[in-house]
Amino acid sequence: MVTLDSFLSHGEAVSALIGDVRSGRASHAIALTGMPGVGKRTLARLLACAFLCVGAGSKPCMQCKGCRRALSGTHPDLLTPSAGEKERSIKVDHLREIIHALSMHAVEGGERVVLLENAQRMTPQAQNALLKSLEEPDGATRFLLTASGDTGLLPTVRSRCRVVRMPPWPREAVEDELLRRGAEAAQARELSILCGGSLGLALSMREDAAFLQLRTLCEATFFSLRSARDVPEASARLKDKREDAEEILSVVEQRAREYLLFAMRAGPAPLPAAETRSHESWLHAAPRALENVLSAVVEANRLRAANVSWQAVAEKLLYIISEEIVLWQP
Ligand SMILES: [Zn+2]
Repeated sequence: MVTLDSFLSHGEAVSALIGDVRSGRASHAIALTGMPGVGKRTLARLLACAFLCVGAGSKPCMQCKGCRRALSGTHPDLLTPSAGEKERSIKVDHLREIIHALSMHAVEGGERVVLLENAQRMTPQAQNALLKSLEEPDGATRFLLTASGDTGLLPTVRSRCRVVRMPPWPREAVEDELLRRGAEAAQARELSILCGGSLGLALSMREDAAFLQLRTLCEATFFSLRSARDVPEASARLKDKREDAEEILSVVEQRAREYLLFAMRAGPAPLPAAETRSHESWLHAAPRALENVLSAVVEANRLRAANVSWQAVAEKLLYIISEEIVLWQP
């Protein structure tokens, strides 16, 4: 289970925030910002638990009634807007119950938490409606906001909050998390590189069977060439994939970049994926050869955009790879 401690490795700003919440020194309003999938929502919910926890010892204990009800969203003093996930904006109407509740004491007499996820979706009117409460803290109410991107929150709202920008996940941490959730080693490694620091994206890619099939296809074609003689067969396998062309090229680019970083001693050795026949050759390719492959991918994208047939584009790239990535013999 993800706990507050899991976030201690997410940079100084986040660990300082957790320290302040645990020692009761946290500001009454906290805004978590950062790109999608970095854990803003999870952290906000754990902080809500910490505020509502009634257990003994380090908070949140995750065991007490306060924690359990905060986690399940049934705590009477955990207030969230009534807007649905699908609604594009959070309007004043969606905040009516919160505003009404704020005019009274907390139901259980302890702290209460206003949790505003995707606060960047709040209309300016909705944000203004909360401003008075943000400006005049009543000592018992905590505001937890999450927001993607740097725009969307009014400066007047931002300035009342302790804004904590959540950094992208370190690659190794994503890999560990995927392994913990039962992913296979090679897949965990690949997704951790592809997701660019967004655990959320890594998890959804793992769920995405079509995406994983494309990866396997790329491995079995572009990354399994042993000589130019293999090109016609590989090209035939890519023939019907015109609609996936953009994604295929981005997979090839990403993977070639990984090998290049390794060749330049700037990254770890890429793991061989299943069915890859030329992994050793890629691992021993010179940086210059890998740069040529990357240029060829850029050119392939250009040709594709210029409406050159996908089959011709793919075949040209396959030939260039078969020339650059010379078969390596131990
Ligand atoms: Zn608790």
